[in-house]
Amino acid sequence: MKLDQSAALLARAQQIIPGGVNSPVRAFRSVGGTPPFIARGEGCRFHDVDGNTYIDYICSWGPLILGHRFPPVLDAIRDVLDVGTSFGAPTEREIELAEEIRAAAPSCEMLRLVNSGTEATMSALRVARGFTGRELTIKFEGCYHGHVDSLLVKAGSGMATLGIADTAGVPPGFANTTLALPYNSVEALEAAFRERGDQIAAVILEPIAGNMGCVLPSPEFLAALRALTQKHGALLIFDEVMTGFRVAFGGAQQLFQLRPDMTTFGKVIGGGLPIAAYGGRADIMSRVAPAGNVYQAGTLSGNPLAVSAGLAMVRHLKAHPEIYTQLNEAATRICAAGEGVEGVTINRCGSMFTFFFHPGPVNSWDDAKSCDTARFRDFHRHLLERGIYFPPSQYEAAFLSAAHDAEAVETTAAAISAFLHP
Ligand SMILES: *Cc1c(COP(=O)(O)O)cnc(C)c1O
Repeated sequence: MKLDQSAALLARAQQIIPGGVNSPVRAFRSVGGTPPFIARGEGCRFHDVDGNTYIDYICSWGPLILGHRFPPVLDAIRDVLDVGTSFGAPTEREIELAEEIRAAAPSCEMLRLVNSGTEATMSALRVARGFTGRELTIKFEGCYHGHVDSLLVKAGSGMATLGIADTAGVPPGFANTTLALPYNSVEALEAAFRERGDQIAAVILEPIAGNMGCVLPSPEFLAALRALTQKHGALLIFDEVMTGFRVAFGGAQQLFQLRPDMTTFGKVIGGGLPIAAYGGRADIMSRVAPAGNVYQAGTLSGNPLAVSAGLAMVRHLKAHPEIYTQLNEAATRICAAGEGVEGVTINRCGSMFTFFFHPGPVNSWDDAKSCDTARFRDFHRHLLERGIYFPPSQYEAAFLSAAHDAEAVETTAAAISAFLHP
C-alpha cells in the first residue's frame, strides 16, 4: 500500500500541528505506520490522498450514521447557504431540533445546544453542581466525557490509547472533585455513596461505554446507579454523546428504559457538523442562564448550518426506524466473523462494537487494559491493507453506517475471518 503523499503531509503537519493531528487518536500512535490523509468520502467509503480507498468503520468517530455525503444532509446544508450561516440571534430551527431531541429522549424536558460533546458534559456538570450545591462527581474508569479538566481522570479514548493515566495541566484541585470508580462495580458505587453520599452532585457515565472499546453495563449496575443517586439526592447524567441516536433512536435510555436526570448528546445530532446538546429535567435546566444563575454561553451555539444538518439527520432516522434493524443485522454479521476465536472477545451494542484481543469477559477498564495490543495492531494493519479502516486503537468502538451495503459487509467479514481463522 502506497502512502507517500500522506507521509509527506504528516511530516509537514508535524511542523505546525502537535503530532500532526487535531485530535490524538488520528495519529495512529498505537498501531504504527502512517495515518492516511483523507481526500474525500462517499457513502461507506473514503479515499486518501494517495488514491487508496477504504471501507470506513470510524464514521467520523460516530456522527456519520448515514454515511458520507448523505444527500438530505447535503441539501439541508445547501439551503442554509442561501440564508446565512450564523446570526448570533435566535432562529426557529433551534427550537425544532430541540423538540426533535426531546421527542426521542423525553427525559430531556429542556435542553441547550452547544458546539461539542466536551462543552455539553462540562456544562451539564456545572449545572448539576449549581443545582445540588455540591462539588463531587463520580465517573467511571475508561469512560471518556471529552477533555473537561475535572473529567480527564482515568479517562478512555486517546488517553487509554496513548497509555496516559492522568493528563498534565489539570490542577489537583480540579481532579480531586472527581471520584473514578470501576465500571460495572455496584460495590464500589455503594461504598462511595456510603462514605460521601451527601457531597456527590452527580454521577456521569457512558451508559454503554465506547471509549475503552465497547463495554456494556450490567442490569444490576444500571439499577444501582438510578437507586443510589435518587436516594442521596445526586443527579444521574447519561453521557449519550456517542450512544444517542446510535444504539437506538432514543439512545441507551430508550434501550434500557431508564430515565436519567440529565443527558448529553453530540456526534449523530450534528449530521457531521459540530453540534452537541445537554438537557434534562425542567427544574434542573431552568437553572441555566438567562433563566437561572448557572452561566453558559456560546457564540456559534445553535448556528443554522449545524442545526440544519442535524435536523436532516434526526428527521431521516425518525422516518426510517428500519435503519436500526439493518445496522444491527450488518454489525451482527461482521462480529460473527470473529466468534469462537480463542483470545478474542467481541462486545457489541447495535452498530457499535469492539474486537478485544482478550480472552474476556471485558466489563471494565481493568479487563480492557490487559488486552494484547500487539495482536490488535496486526489485526488493524491486516484490515487497513485490505482497504478496511477500523479505529486505530484497541480502545475505541467501530461504527457502522446505513451506507454499509452487503458487499462492504461481506468484504469486511471475509477479511476479519482471514486474520482470525488463518
Ligand atoms: C466523543 C465523546 C465526547 C466528546 O465529544 P467532542 O465533540 O469530541 O468534544 C464526550 N463523551 C462521549 C461519550 C464521547 O464519545
